[in-house]
Amino acid sequence: AKATLSERICFYEVAMDEAARDRRKMASDLWSAIDRNELHLHYQVQKSVSTGEITGYEVLLRWEHPTRGNVPPADFISVAEECGAIVPIGEWVLREACKEAAGWAEKHKIAVNLSPVQIGHQDIAHLVHSVLFETGLEPWRLELEITESSIIVDKDRALLTLRQVKNLGVSIAIDDFGTGYSSLETLRSFPFDKIKLDRSFMNEVETSEQAKAIIRAILALGQSLSIPVLAEGVETDVQLGILLDEGCDEAQGYLLGRPMPMRSRKIAA
Ligand code: C2E
Ligand code: CA
Ligand code: CA
Ligand code: CA
Repeated sequence: AKATLSERICFYEVAMDEAARDRRKMASDLWSAIDRNELHLHYQVQKSVSTGEITGYEVLLRWEHPTRGNVPPADFISVAEECGAIVPIGEWVLREACKEAAGWAEKHKIAVNLSPVQIGHQDIAHLVHSVLFETGLEPWRLELEITESSIIVDKDRALLTLRQVKNLGVSIAIDDFGTGYSSLETLRSFPFDKIKLDRSFMNEVETSEQAKAIIRAILALGQSLSIPVLAEGVETDVQLGILLDEGCDEAQGYLLGRPMPMRSRKIAA
């Protein structure tokens, strides 16, 4: 039998309640995840489109929960941002990544994601400065990836932070570019070192002339501003071929390499 409207509303409320309780539970688990050694880092390779040379690795956080198993960042980053746990977690990611990379035989760059909440709640320039000092990682090997939302929340603070970080010799990439509603304004506000073209464009580039036209326009924009463009989410040879034809600088995606721990990458190589 069909549920009555009131039964359905009741069910909905119970489900909402459960979802809220689940997020609260996840939030409290996140606060102890660092101490319990549940967090670790994966690295995804970034390559030059024209030469295939490795240009760097993006650092991606992984959470191995004792009962939930592997929780994807899409499920826990927003919770961590809401409850504030992203501040110590983000600090852990930065320190751990710099420590690991400082020990690599080859001096590749690493790109660390920075949450808008971190920028709002701590002195990022001071943190980056101490972590570089502690780990001995050369500043040029560190890149911070920020999204437009970081700049929208508190523009003056964000721009000051970015300028201070850049003065340390660290580079700044604008992440998920093309998805925000003020992308051009964002580019005008700060001298970014790299534009990361959002994955959604790659999804459609093989089938949509429009997507291709937008990619072409963003590449032209990058070229005229002398900012290299990296295409995210490259999964096929056809996509890579298009990027080569269009003069895209760098690429990242499953075709070039899946995110994985550094150690297993070395064994595989
Ligand atoms: P993002 O910064 O855009 O990172 C790229 C995401 O795309 C990663 O998902 C990566 O695994 C995925 N990806 C890479 N290549 C491909 C591809 O060819 N096809 C498809 N379909 N996906 C691809 P992941 O690791 O699940 O991370 C999701 C998001 O979580 C990241 O998106 C980032 O916003 C956030 N995140 C991850 N680690 C951190 C971190 O340490 N700090 C902060 N603040 N956010 C993080
Ligand atoms: Ca990123
Ligand atoms: Ca991205
Ligand atoms: Ca994203």
